[in-house]
This record gives sequence, C-alpha cells and structure tokens, in this order.
Amino acid sequence: EAKSAGRGTHCLFEPQMDETARERTVLERELREALTFGRFEVHYQPLVDLDRNRIKGVEALVRWRHPERGLISPAVFIPLAEETGLIVPLGEWVLNQACRDAATLADDISVAVNVSAIQLRNRTFAQTVLMALAASGLKATRLELEITESVLLDDTEANLETLHTLRRLGVRISMDDFGTGYSSISYLRRFPFDKIKIDRSFVRDSAGRSDAGAIIRAIVGLGTSLGITTLVEGVETEDQLATVRAEGAQEIQGYLFSPPRPLSEINEMLFLAKARSAA
Ligand code: C2E
Ligand code: MG
Ligand code: MG
Ligand code: MG
Repeated sequence: EAKSAGRGTHCLFEPQMDETARERTVLERELREALTFGRFEVHYQPLVDLDRNRIKGVEALVRWRHPERGLISPAVFIPLAEETGLIVPLGEWVLNQACRDAATLADDISVAVNVSAIQLRNRTFAQTVLMALAASGLKATRLELEITESVLLDDTEANLETLHTLRRLGVRISMDDFGTGYSSISYLRRFPFDKIKIDRSFVRDSAGRSDAGAIIRAIVGLGTSLGITTLVEGVETEDQLATVRAEGAQEIQGYLFSPPRPLSEINEMLFLAKARSAA
C-alpha cells in the first residue's frame, strides 16, 4: 500500500487527489527547497511621517524568487508556511536579514518585521529576537514587530508575556491590519501597543463616500487618547492621502509614496530625500 511508504510519498499515488492538493504538495516541497537554497528576498516599503513628510522607517516584506515562476507574493506562501511550521525558520531568516539590512541604514530609520502567531508561540522567540539584534548590531529601539490579532487569540497569556519582555527591551510592537478582526479594540486594553496600523480596506472603501474617513477618524481618536501612533495602510491616491491627513493619522504606507522595493532602491530614495532636504 502506498500509504505505508510514509508521509509525503503516498500523496503521489492517490488517484482521487484533486489538483489543488497536488499543487499544495508541490508548493510545500518547493518551499522547503527555497529555504535550503536561500531563494527568499526581503523588500522594504517606506513608512512615512505625515507631519514632516519624511521616511521614518520601512516594513520588511518577504518575497520568494522562484526559478520558474519568478517573484512570488507572500500572500501565496505565508499561509502554507504557517500550516507546515516552515514559518518558524523562514520568519527567523527574515528577522535576521531585516535587522542586518536596517543596521546599514541611517540611525533614525526603523524596521518593522511581521511576526506570525506560530513564531510567537515558540517559547524561545524573545531569545531569537535578541540574537538577531546582537548579531546585526541594530538597537532594539529601531525594531518594530507587527502582529495581528490572531497572535493574541491563541495562547494569550504566554504570548502577552513574550511581547512584554520584548517591549521592556525597547522593541516596539504594532498591531497590524487593525479593524479586520473581531475584537481589535478589546486587544488595545490588553496590551500597550506602540502603533496601530489601520487596514487598507478602510482607506479603499472611503473613496467617494460621504462618510469618507469616519472610521479612520474614530480609530485615530482612539489611538490619540491612548497615546498610540496611528498609521494608515494602502494609501494609493492623492484623494486618499488628503482624507488620511484630514483625519489626523501620523503615518502612511502605500503605493502612492512607494511600493515595497529592494534595499538598494530604498537606499537611493533615502539618499535623494536627504539631498533634497539639505538643498
Ligand atoms: P501586511 O503586513 O499588512 O503588509 C502590507 C501589504 O500591503 C504588503 O503586501 C504591501 O505590499 C501591501 N501594500 C502596501 N501598500 C499598498 C497599496 O497602496 N495598495 C495595495 N493594494 N497594497 C499595498 P505583501 O508584501 O504582498 O504582503 C502581504 C502580507 O504577507 C503582509 O501583509 C503580511 O501579513 C504577510 N507577510 C509579508 N512578509 C511577511 C513575513 O516576513 N512574515 C510574516 N509572518 N508575514 C509576512
Ligand atoms: Mg505588516
Ligand atoms: Mg498590514
Ligand atoms: Mg495585511
């Protein structure tokens, strides 16, 4: 019987297996190979301070350089990496790469790294972060970790403890995709987040509506009264930027300013911005 050949191999002989499952198996194998052969890249998207119209930091966003399929979006492989546990070594690699890259940028530029619930559940996670900081020489205060509410949904107490430990060391914690979950607001009471990243669905849906910005305004108000910075994700147009400005958010991120780019291009952007401000 094919099954007795062990996990992974029996899949190849099941005639009723559908195309999706087959593709998934291939993707999982390729994902493991990609880790082994170093086929991932980190791109960076600027986080812009609206007051001073200046890049404050960058978000590290992983991409997979596939030999045949080109650059693959994390939306495709992060869910599978989470299901298979591969997110642990992949996430650790991203963290180390992002810290090393950020250490080469100016002192006042921070780097934000996305962290999955599965990574945080690992009792050694705080240690992993400390080692990435030590190895790169990056100051803890220049690192932000972005988590979504799913991180606080499971294993809440232990995860909160890890986040507190990291925060005491100077690492900042952002709540990503704010407003897309069931209980984003209640989590603001459970943990002293440094930043709220308002999900891009709110800015997208505000276009051309009479209540444009009402939700953004409410979240910014909440952030302000709690002393938390608010950033709006996914700003693509001047109209959206105007709305976000009017509602008082401190930071934006979006294609209008810049898509995620390789480090070399971020370096150029920072260099040009500096030259402009000096002129
Ligand atoms: P996220 O953390 O919310 O990152 C923002 C996503 O929005 C990025 O997609 C970015 O390219 C996209 N984006 C930024 N500005 C705009 C805009 O103006 N318009 C539109 N339509 N999109 C915009 P990306 O790079 O495809 O990443 C998708 C998600 O994958 C991320 O969402 C994050 O949840 C996850 N991800 C990416 N890298 C990592 C990683 O290293 N670790 C983990 N655990 N997750 C990651
Ligand atoms: Mg993020
Ligand atoms: Mg986000
Ligand atoms: Mg998102």
